[in-house]
Amino acid sequence: MPELPEVEIIVRQLNKVLRGMVIERVEVLREKSFKGEIKELVGRKIKKVGRKSKMMVMEFMELKKVVLIHLKMTGQLIYIDSRLRGNDEEEMRIVGGHPTADWVNELPSKHTRVIIYFKNGSRLFFNDMRAFGWMKIGDVPRLPPDVVDKEFTLQLFKELVSGSKRAIKLVLMDQKKIGGVGNIYANDGLFLAKIDPKKMASSLDNNEIERLHKAIKKVINKGILLAGKYQNYFLVYGREGEKCKKCKGKIEKFKLSGRGTYWCPNCQMG
Ligand SMILES: [Zn+2]
Repeated sequence: MPELPEVEIIVRQLNKVLRGMVIERVEVLREKSFKGEIKELVGRKIKKVGRKSKMMVMEFMELKKVVLIHLKMTGQLIYIDSRLRGNDEEEMRIVGGHPTADWVNELPSKHTRVIIYFKNGSRLFFNDMRAFGWMKIGDVPRLPPDVVDKEFTLQLFKELVSGSKRAIKLVLMDQKKIGGVGNIYANDGLFLAKIDPKKMASSLDNNEIERLHKAIKKVINKGILLAGKYQNYFLVYGREGEKCKKCKGKIEKFKLSGRGTYWCPNCQMG
């Protein structure tokens, strides 16, 4: 599943090209993948493409409602502008989400669920192999702040952490309290802050909370900067049995609430 940085990257790219564009029509190829009245979107001009947690949020001029897109496990967004074709030029593509051959293939494919056609001739494809993802017309979601938002202050984080007797890693990943921290960044953030993932949240001291607040923002921002190449820079995630990048000890793995948890016992204990 794409984590916050991967969604942020595609959202930024789409925002650049889609702002000001007018929707000509919307074609839904799989009914369950789209909720809402298509006619509400026809003729609408896009004001902004943004993100809330792992959802893409498309805003329109003179419309309160927004279009929300959640890619889930295998969703993809592919924007194609082929107006240059015939001029010996390549078509322009922006791709994001689950990587498959559809990133470069002729579209629609059998995994295309929704197509948005714009007045200028360009198109946005929502593909989803396993079809857990969705697109819907709705209100701006009310969610807790994402870790990269200004509202995610140290004070707010302190309150969340000190009020919970759960393992700190589970608090980090609780999307009802904090937005945008998936398994990869929770593991790496805890490593960077030198904190045991199973340590009871309320037992963290001020120093540890401050370190973790900083570390979690740092790993997620690094993920955004690396534009989808963070997998080459994992600190502990997915590195069971390999050498710790700090102490050369061995990275270990265990399960915490069913999720693979990676850590360096040497660096993160105590
Ligand atoms: Zn270590």
